[in-house]
Amino acid sequence: MRGELYCPLCNYSRDPVPDPVHCPRCGVPLEFRRDLPGISPEDLRGRGIWRYAPFLPDVEPVTLGEGGTPLVESVRIGRELGVELLLKLEGANPTGSFKDRGASVLVSVLRGFGVGTVADDSSGNAAAALAAYAARAGMEAILYVPSHASPKKLAQIEAHGAELVRVPGPRSAAARAVREATGKGGLVYASHNESPYFIQGLKALAYELYEDMGYEVPDHVVVPLGGGGLFLGLYLGFRELMELGWIEREPRISAVQAEACAPIARAWELGEVAPVRVDPVSTVAEGVCIADPPRGREILRALRDNGGAAVAVEEGRIRRAQAELAEREGIYVEPTSAVVLPGLERLLRRGVVKGTETVVLLLTGSGLKGEPGS
Ligand SMILES: [Zn+2]
Repeated sequence: MRGELYCPLCNYSRDPVPDPVHCPRCGVPLEFRRDLPGISPEDLRGRGIWRYAPFLPDVEPVTLGEGGTPLVESVRIGRELGVELLLKLEGANPTGSFKDRGASVLVSVLRGFGVGTVADDSSGNAAAALAAYAARAGMEAILYVPSHASPKKLAQIEAHGAELVRVPGPRSAAARAVREATGKGGLVYASHNESPYFIQGLKALAYELYEDMGYEVPDHVVVPLGGGGLFLGLYLGFRELMELGWIEREPRISAVQAEACAPIARAWELGEVAPVRVDPVSTVAEGVCIADPPRGREILRALRDNGGAAVAVEEGRIRRAQAELAEREGIYVEPTSAVVLPGLERLLRRGVVKGTETVVLLLTGSGLKGEPGS
């Protein structure tokens, strides 16, 4: 595979390997890069994320047709908020969440390396996606999931024949358990929060939005943020579109967390360069509850560079937003995805998003995914 791993903070680089690697100087997860081919949008072929294969790791794809999801206009909420609002329906991906984009590229790269068994920790959606793509690739998957994860997500993971390890306690306990298991060797840590390859699949979203909008980009994109892969993937993708000369200005990207667990939003408000230590309480937005995001410093730096913002939203407002999207727009999303609506309202109040702008809300997962269990 052509390309290299590099540190986003100090530019240390090395050859690609299957496991996530941390910068020996900065301690942050390394990212992947390859030379961008000199092609134009008219040269792209096929559909879904592999339409952007010239910009992805050059491996044989393990694919279920991920990507190519609908971008629809808001019929009511946008008008009331006074913005031109577009909704990207990531629940339309094969396993019901945007994680399929990352899982497809990650599993493809790992199969290329000859890896037979992968492990990850997840609140549910990334584990479900990895279980599906591992099954597709003929690989084994061991997935560490908090025991309070949505029962529907747990059933989905088991349906694909993955080994499901239910870990009692907070989300961080599952992360610790997988680190212990993979630290012994023989098992690759296919971390959706640390692997440089997962983000490559998420990056395709920037290219896709650009094509969805007729070779243009929105003024602002609003995303839920837990581990920050989606945010960083978009940031990376838009940067590449600039480098290719396909766009002349980068959209701003803002990130939304639940107040119950907001290490990045708190750090942003305080002007810190690293995530603030938080003691998370339970939230319906289980997918964005990551108390100590490994890429926190990279996220905060990208936010400063990009000009977006990070905000946190109240628990009660998340549930109401989920109902509003379902009743008034016909779109049923899981609670984690719904955080972007109150997030947008807050960004408008603060003047980060202006009333005349075109805004895309990334609706990350289907409502059929269910809700956290007990
Ligand atoms: Zn470094």
